[in-house]
Amino acid sequence: MSTSLNITLCMAQTKPEPWETGLRAALPGATVSNWQPGDAPADYAVVWAPPQAFLDEQPRLKALFNIGAGVDALLKLKLPPGCQIVRLDDAGMSVQMAEYVCHAVIRHFREFDGYEADVKAGKWSYRKPRMRADFPVGVMGLGVLGERVARALSVFEFPVHGWSRSPKQIEGVQSHSGSDGFNTFRSSCRVLVNLLPLTPDTTDILNAQTLSLLQPGGYLVNVARGAHLVEEDLLTLIDSGHLAGATLDVFRTEPLPAGHPFWNHPKITVTPHTSARTLREESIAQIAGKMLALSRGEAVAGLVDPRSGY
Ligand code: NDP
Repeated sequence: MSTSLNITLCMAQTKPEPWETGLRAALPGATVSNWQPGDAPADYAVVWAPPQAFLDEQPRLKALFNIGAGVDALLKLKLPPGCQIVRLDDAGMSVQMAEYVCHAVIRHFREFDGYEADVKAGKWSYRKPRMRADFPVGVMGLGVLGERVARALSVFEFPVHGWSRSPKQIEGVQSHSGSDGFNTFRSSCRVLVNLLPLTPDTTDILNAQTLSLLQPGGYLVNVARGAHLVEEDLLTLIDSGHLAGATLDVFRTEPLPAGHPFWNHPKITVTPHTSARTLREESIAQIAGKMLALSRGEAVAGLVDPRSGY
């Protein structure tokens, strides 16, 4: 379908050329360019962590398409009036997140790190099987990614609890909601998986109080944002033995600074913010479809509410 959409790209840490080519192929007739200061303003933008100077030059922007699920960085900026923010809505991310989290939880539950160390030391060892009933898993945030993760964990027959702002009905998942449900949720879990958006309400939510309410031998998987976690509190609880360890994909400072205690901690597994990557082809197809829908005045999924921060 031929279209006269006017699209600008401004994407930090991302090569723009394949996105330009992909959008031109998906939207024949559209004008697509990689933003340079002083360019004419566009109607639609595809962005990742753009500078304020970019937005200041876009007075007529109708929608900003973020090439990720998290919009916390974008909401810190002053947006053109009337401009909607559209986030990626799955686009191949939820299955990656389910793989990552199930892998982390199962690796901990089945003590695969211990077996690996024994094998490397030439030891043929047996460990007493652990019971799933003793490893209830709690998923904080039951949105696009959290719901898929909670469902995937329930397939492995872990008792699964979920926590969100509004109550949910998800098969195999016990729903807790709001601040009233938070204490019961925390104390019901031994493994905690964080998939909340970063908002003023959720910043620092993984702190000493939250983490010490987990059942003894608790384990944390943080795949949402680094600023959810008070890093010193995690270290204190692991070193005191209350928590068994953590798998962390996101950090307050990224890349994780050299010399940071997480790098070589024997009970912490670190990955470089890679749990659910943006897949370019899926993302371009989704963004192009939504641009066309918006230009026809139709509703699209994945609109961000700046008041709630996600
Ligand atoms: P969604 O916006 O789809 O879902 C957010 C969920 O969190 C909802 O269930 C919402 O509740 C709940 N929530 C929000 N605020 C609160 C609160 N104050 N108390 C309780 N529950 C709350 O997000 P996604 O699932 O798409 O993504 C989650 C986060 O994952 C992203 O914001 C991003 O930070 C991170 N992410 C990390 C990646 C990585 O590679 N590490 C990749 C992609 C995303 P309700 O349903 O009631 O509204």
